[in-house]
This record gives sequence, structure tokens and C-alpha cells, in this order.
Amino acid sequence: MKLNALKGFKDILPGEVELWQELEEFSRSLFAQYNFTEIRVPLLEETALFSRAIGDVTDIVEKEMYTFADKQQTLRPEGTASIIRAVIENGLLVKKPVQRLFTIGPMFRHERPQKGRLRQFHQLDMEVLGSKSPLIDVELMSLAALFFKALDIDVSLEINSLGCKKCRPAYREELLDFISSHKEHLCGDCQRRSTTNPLRTLDCKTPSCRKQIADAPSVQDWLCEECSSHFITVQEGLRQLGINFTLNKFMVRGLDYYNRTTFEFLTDDLGAQAAVAAGGRYDGLVELLGGAKNTPGIGFAIGMERIILLLLQKDEYTLTRGVDFFLAGLGKAGNAKAFELAWQLRQEGFSVALDYEGRSLKAQMKLADRENAYFSVIIGEDELAGGYGLLRNMKNKDAEQRKIPLTLESFLDLTEELPGE
Ligand code: ATP
Ligand code: MG
Repeated sequence: MKLNALKGFKDILPGEVELWQELEEFSRSLFAQYNFTEIRVPLLEETALFSRAIGDVTDIVEKEMYTFADKQQTLRPEGTASIIRAVIENGLLVKKPVQRLFTIGPMFRHERPQKGRLRQFHQLDMEVLGSKSPLIDVELMSLAALFFKALDIDVSLEINSLGCKKCRPAYREELLDFISSHKEHLCGDCQRRSTTNPLRTLDCKTPSCRKQIADAPSVQDWLCEECSSHFITVQEGLRQLGINFTLNKFMVRGLDYYNRTTFEFLTDDLGAQAAVAAGGRYDGLVELLGGAKNTPGIGFAIGMERIILLLLQKDEYTLTRGVDFFLAGLGKAGNAKAFELAWQLRQEGFSVALDYEGRSLKAQMKLADRENAYFSVIIGEDELAGGYGLLRNMKNKDAEQRKIPLTLESFLDLTEELPGE
């Protein structure tokens, strides 16, 4: 019987995993620059956490969650709800009134797998809890903008404001009127949802729906004074930092918890999966999940698979990372010396590979190439008798092979020649 990974679940293999590690390392240092600290939350939570936070009439909760029905537990489809749960449960906002947190890890959604769309995918997720300042919105977008700039990924930023409890109901009514006069031309999903979650019709991907709602009223025209001034300050802040953006009245995002600012970073280079990062403000969510009243919040997530795909499309990425030394022992004594030397070199911080199968010199040199070794050291019986090995630069085949005393000092002297991390 052949056992395969589940559809939409993917192994990240050696050769690609190095790029993931680099991306994570780079992200961590960028988040630190922005004074974010890491939080790690469980992959499994009570189903109620997600249905309450994300909303019952959303794609995620209606059809995408991996739920153990008998246990009322669900694999997290996103990070925000879990982080807020953890912040409330551990009283973090009492200890420090503004929390700036990030998490990196897998999310699970039962969607139709495609390029850049998986059932287990990974996000870099950032949340700021406890500040209602519109400059936080700008700061988060600036973080994302810097992320993409540093990775040399072309993106465009779209923003919208969804208003708040005060102003959205009136807009919702207006939109409902508009939808009911166009209802017969909308797709099944939108017809069904038009009464429960009319805003979702605005970002329906069905072409006929898109055509119908092109003239729908814009939420931006219905903002109350506070929401309007918040939104204006956000735009001014983006301009102040020189971050380009466009207004998109159709961007409502797939989760119910958003209010005020929402934003997406989009790419033209991934076909249909255009969104590489997305998020927004959720000022009612902490309270909804049992936290203190009127605790504001905002967050966004970057989809890591899509970033990896974009990086892989650039040819400057060579993924193989190699070892510093391949120790090629020959004969019993040579192999024993290689074995011992590997232990000593590794304690000094070098990376080392060696052969345990008694392969010929030729076979070991081939292996050294496959391990992408920088140096190989041949330790045959003759050499060993003289107390030295033969050092070969595997990256420069023209370089002379030279003798190297088999002492730790002579290897430490090579540190300068090795490529830095
Ligand atoms: P999409 O419109 O592509 O379905 P979304 O609005 O559902 O995205 P969010 O919940 O906002 O996505 O998640 C933030 C980011 O996570 C997205 O912009 C995307 O880059 C990534 N993402 C979301 N779902 C998936 C998935 N199934 N596979 C891979 N990446 C994903
Ligand atoms: Mg989605």
C-alpha cells in the first residue's frame, strides 16, 4: 500500500527548507526592529473560539474548518483568535497595556488546493492589542511594506475602512437595498448570504456578481465622524512615510471581526492567489472573547507559501547550503581519524560530513560534492603516517591540493577562508 500526504498538505523538503529558515530568520529580526515579541499558541482550540471570533456566516467557519466534531475542538484556521484568547487568559494586558505580538506557524483550512493555496499553510502573524491610534495601523502597514521591499517583492497595497458599530448598520441597510434590487443576478452563495452577511457579496469572486456590485454604495461614504477621521489619519500617515496605496471599497475581508481599517498587499506574480498579506482592525474582538471592554486591536498575516513561491521565481536563490568540511577517511585508521576529527571540528563550530560505508576515494569525492562541501580532507594511510591530510578546495577545482597537519589549530587557521554565514 502506498501512503501519501493528504491533499493540500505538503512536505517542505531539504533544498527548500533552507529558504523557509532564512525567511523566518529575516522575519524575526524585522519584527524585533518593530518591537514585537513572539507568542506561541496551541494548534488546537475549542471550536467556539473560532466560530465566535471569525463569525458563523463566513467561508472559514461555514466550510473550511478542520473540526473534531465529537470533541468540539478545531485546528486553528488563523492566529488572531488564539492570540487574543491567550492574552486574555494570561492577563497580559494588565501587565502591559499595549501588547505587540507575533507568531509563526501552520494554519488549517479545508479549501480547494491550488498553487499558493493549501490546506495546511503557514502565516507570519502580527497583532497589536490595546491601542486605538490610527498610527498603529500605518506602522503595521509600514512593517509589511518594509518586509516586501527587503525581499524585493513587488506588491500593491489596498486599503478600506469598514466603519464601526455606529455607522455600519446604516450602510448595511443601504447595501441590502442595492443587493435586493440585483438579487436575481447574484450567485447562489451571495443570494443566500445577502440577508445574513451582505457585505460578503462585495468581495465575491464570481464574475457575474462582480459586475452586479460594481455600482454598489461605498462603505467609505457612510463612515461616522470618528471612523472618517481615523481613516483620513491612516491615509495621511501612509503618505507621510511614502507608502503607496489605493482605496478599494470592495475589500471587506473574509472574517466578521474587522472594523475600520482593512488592508491587503497584492502581487501580480502568482496568478489567482494575489493576496500575500492581509489584515485589519478589530476593536470589538477582545471584548467579544471575554476580555476587557473597549480593548482595541489590529493585526495582519503574511502567507508564507506565497512568499516562498515568489522568492523561488527569482533565479538568484540557490538553496543548497553546504558543510565546511567533508572528511574522506580511507582504510581503518583513516576512517577512525576522520571520525575523531569530525567530533573535534564540530565542537569548534564547523559543519562536517563524512562517510561511514567504507566508500572508495572517488565515491567519497562525489559525495563531498553532493554535500556541497567547501573543503574536503583526504585522510589515507600514507598521509596519516605523516600526521597530515590532503586539503582540497571543492569550490575552486583549480586550486592546488595541499597538505594540512591533522591538528585542530591548522583547521582553525582555515576559518578565514570559509564562506561566512
Ligand atoms: P484568500 O483571499 O487568498 O483566500 P484570505 O483572505 O482567506 O486569503 P487571510 O485569512 O487574510 O486570507 O490570511 C492572510 C494571508 O494568508 C493571505 O493573504 C494569504 O497570503 C495567506 N493564505 C490564506 N489562506 C491560504 C491558503 N489556503 N493557502 C496558502 N496561503 C493562504
Ligand atoms: Mg480564504
